[in-house]
Amino acid sequence: MLLKGIGASPGAALAPIHYIRQPDLSVKKLEGKGAAAERARFERARERAFRELDALYETAAQADPAAAQIFEIHKLMLGDPDFCDGVEAGLSEGLNAEYAVSSAAAVLADFLNTLDNAVMRGRAADIRDAAGRIILILKGAADGGAFPEGEIIVAAEDLLPSQTVRLDRNRVRGFVTKYGAMTSHSVILARTMGIPCVVGLGEGFDRLPKSGELAVDGRSGELLFDMSGAERAAFLRRAESAAGEKAALSAYTSANAVTPGGHSVLVCANIGGVGDAEGAAAFGADGVGLFRSEFLYLESPGFPDEETQLAAYRAVLEKLAPKPVTIRTLDLGSDKQLPYFDIPGEENPALGCRAIRICLKEPSVFRTQLRALLRASVYGKLEILFPMITSLDQVLAAKERVSAAKAELGAEGLAYSGDILFGVMIETPAAALMSDILAREVDFFSIGTNDLTQYTLAADRTNARVRDIFNPADPAVLKLIKMTAENAHANGIRVGICGESAADTSLTGFYMSIGIDELSVSPAAVPAVKKAVIESSV
Ligand code: PEP
Ligand code: MG
Repeated sequence: MLLKGIGASPGAALAPIHYIRQPDLSVKKLEGKGAAAERARFERARERAFRELDALYETAAQADPAAAQIFEIHKLMLGDPDFCDGVEAGLSEGLNAEYAVSSAAAVLADFLNTLDNAVMRGRAADIRDAAGRIILILKGAADGGAFPEGEIIVAAEDLLPSQTVRLDRNRVRGFVTKYGAMTSHSVILARTMGIPCVVGLGEGFDRLPKSGELAVDGRSGELLFDMSGAERAAFLRRAESAAGEKAALSAYTSANAVTPGGHSVLVCANIGGVGDAEGAAAFGADGVGLFRSEFLYLESPGFPDEETQLAAYRAVLEKLAPKPVTIRTLDLGSDKQLPYFDIPGEENPALGCRAIRICLKEPSVFRTQLRALLRASVYGKLEILFPMITSLDQVLAAKERVSAAKAELGAEGLAYSGDILFGVMIETPAAALMSDILAREVDFFSIGTNDLTQYTLAADRTNARVRDIFNPADPAVLKLIKMTAENAHANGIRVGICGESAADTSLTGFYMSIGIDELSVSPAAVPAVKKAVIESSV
């Protein structure tokens, strides 16, 4: 059997399918079977939740002890006196345990959400998550969190970036989803992590096998199952030849990307965490052109503190030194939601409070990150990049926050480098249109074609139904890119592209013709992009 979706992250994989389902946490307010009986049901369910959390902690701690902490935190929350008192109040009114747990968690979460401290507000999502585990147990639903032994292909209607970042790279060979598109953040993460995936299957998702082996071709978007022996052997040969093509490109790993006309281009890597820096170096990246720092936050159980962030930034800078590392400040919101940071629901989150808008509204979150970045700067060649800029005022405000953080560190006798470069993402039409003005305030531009395409063409980057409209090669997008490049060069600053279309080799010739100075792509795509630059006709 053959199904086709969007081949979104290249590579071929063959393993048993494993479904991740989003659990149904809805509860009804009912009269219980008496307070004592409901109390006993609650206690039994909570005991089982503790055992599940212990088991999840043990498994997760082997791969990543810091990330495993979330399960300890959930245990603490289920023993929280306010939460337990709330449950007891519902039970003694004669209500069913499901409702008592759900409403106690909601009251506590609402209270946490009123607090000024962003870390405490983050705990609101944790209490809902932890209480949800008890509710599922009370409803008799199986725990969906545990993975079976061995290698698997994950199947899910959709995967949140916070779920993707936690996938065990050693066992998850690939994933397939009903929704999603080329520039959804889960897909970008998959490409960075080197996990093949096929997304946007639509109705086809329901025809996938419920169990058994699934073959995934992340380039063509093909999914095969119920294969004959001959079909299976043919798929394995296909996987081998893809691996061969990849090996042939490795000749370009150590090449310098210079066009025949002599224009030299930095071909850098996009990374999401310390673990990806190894790949960036191994594939011959000329630096890191985009470290999406929000993924550090997504894989952490709570806001990472200054020391944790410092350690991560330092590790990447040291790994790449003396090559430059561009770290982008927190770009949350839209399809990147932190489980522990309750951003109030928005009708249009892509147009809502995201990225620099959040950072400027949450001074303590921004300050912690800026201090960690500045302190890390002494360990390599750091460049700091601000996302989702739409106005000059935002750039000036961000720079002011940097100056304040520098002053603080100076007063505390903590060192930072004197030659950090500062840049802005050009990923909104407003930023591209104002690039002549913005260029006077920063050292470089980095064009984010994923968002620039989304906002220019009014086409949701994560919606497979508008993928014919979402086109980074659309003349309107190319016109804004060209305008940005001209304004950058007129002001003597560098301009790079770090959106997914930086790796589209059918556009490399155009990028070279307008003098793009840097292309930043997923680590595995670096050799192919260097080859395209060297073979361009510019
Ligand atoms: C972009 O928008 O092109 C970009 C690189 O940022 P992100 O994909 O993380 O939104
Ligand atoms: Mg973006």
